[in-house]
Amino acid sequence: MFFGLTMDLATVLLLHKCSFIVGAICFFYVRWRSREPGLDFLAIGDGLLAFASTLAGVGEQGILPHEVWTFGSFSIGVTGYSLMAMGLVQLSGRRRKRTDCLLLVVALTLSVVVGSMHWYADNPTRAAIFNANTAVFLGVSCAVILRDFFLDRLPARWGLLASLAAAMSFSTLVAVGMIFPQYGPVEPRYAFFMLIICHFSVALFVVVLVQERAEAQLKRLAYTDALTGIPNRQHFLASLPSDLRGGDAFIMIDIDHFKSVNDRYGHETGDVVLVGVAQAISTTAGRKVTLGRLGGEEFALFLRDQTEETAVAKADQIRRTVNALAFASGAETIVPSVSAGVAVWRGDCNAQKLRDQADQALYLAKRGGRDRVELYANPQSMEELSSSATATTVTQHSSGPEHPLGELAA
Ligand code: GH3
Ligand code: MG
Ligand code: MG
Repeated sequence: MFFGLTMDLATVLLLHKCSFIVGAICFFYVRWRSREPGLDFLAIGDGLLAFASTLAGVGEQGILPHEVWTFGSFSIGVTGYSLMAMGLVQLSGRRRKRTDCLLLVVALTLSVVVGSMHWYADNPTRAAIFNANTAVFLGVSCAVILRDFFLDRLPARWGLLASLAAAMSFSTLVAVGMIFPQYGPVEPRYAFFMLIICHFSVALFVVVLVQERAEAQLKRLAYTDALTGIPNRQHFLASLPSDLRGGDAFIMIDIDHFKSVNDRYGHETGDVVLVGVAQAISTTAGRKVTLGRLGGEEFALFLRDQTEETAVAKADQIRRTVNALAFASGAETIVPSVSAGVAVWRGDCNAQKLRDQADQALYLAKRGGRDRVELYANPQSMEELSSSATATTVTQHSSGPEHPLGELAA
């Protein structure tokens, strides 16, 4: 009796076969739907295991010669588990390596040894070697899945790991029970039954893992600007805190005379410049800063724990970094520049308003001649500044109006 159930061997063997058939169908299906590596080996591995299980079932009925079905089911089963482990290693690491084949080499070597020593002929010996080897393959899979944990921290990875660890434990119990029937903590056929359940849950968590990866990929695509690779407008806005606090700041950045780059050098060259500038802004901004491409050649940064001085210094650092870039187009060199507007929270507005203030400062930077940084002061002074011809520039490029893109636009 096991949890109130009585199981005869025929039922257990049928379930055993079913677990591999279901696994093979699942893996073939997800392999067809996704490009993840390893699913093909998993499908073939489970297919071979189903075949080995069928062969053993047929052999038990005396239809086939003893030597044929015992050695056949052993070697095919061991190969099936090695392919399954190979598939799991590749799925976990999201890559294929030549060294993965070592698992198959181990399986084939073991088959040759067991065949030449005639260990397959004795049922308990064959089952003990088979399950001990299965435990080793499952253990390798567990170790690799744990090692690759930081590759993608998806919940399904834990489920898969737990299923494989349980399968490894039950395989070990079956092997121990075969060698020492009097000491085995669980009767082998019940450990075997639990192993079947583990096979089902491995198939389930592989499917869920592939699904979670696809969802994560979609999310990444939805939140990333396809051209520049930095977060897009939606992601930037979604990443902003609901409440502002002292020290919060926005920096709005716009490439100067960018239309002239497109007009003169073509849209493709414009794209190259745009990507280069975006990468320069991203690297200079650092990891703690929330960055986004708001659209066209406009970027926004949200920073915490700033003073007016530090926020302006950061904007100016970005301005200088961009200005140090150079893009070759034929015999000519394109040197981009940006203008930036900075606004630091003073406890009087929401995020939308603060962004508008940074935008107003950017407008002033443009009007003041470009390639410069402006800090938002207050509504009154901003109005005065925007109506006066000479805006108060916080920082400005040393060569000012002689900037190459400035000349282009002239
Ligand atoms: P200003 O200094 O006043 O900002 O001048 P500007 O020419 O940069 O400003 P404007 O807004 O007139 O032009 C922005 C240009 O950016 C227009 C558009 O063709 C170009 N642009 C927007 N998105 C892309 C893009 O993805 N790739 C390329 N190559 N150009 C783009
Ligand atoms: Mg522009
Ligand atoms: Mg613009």
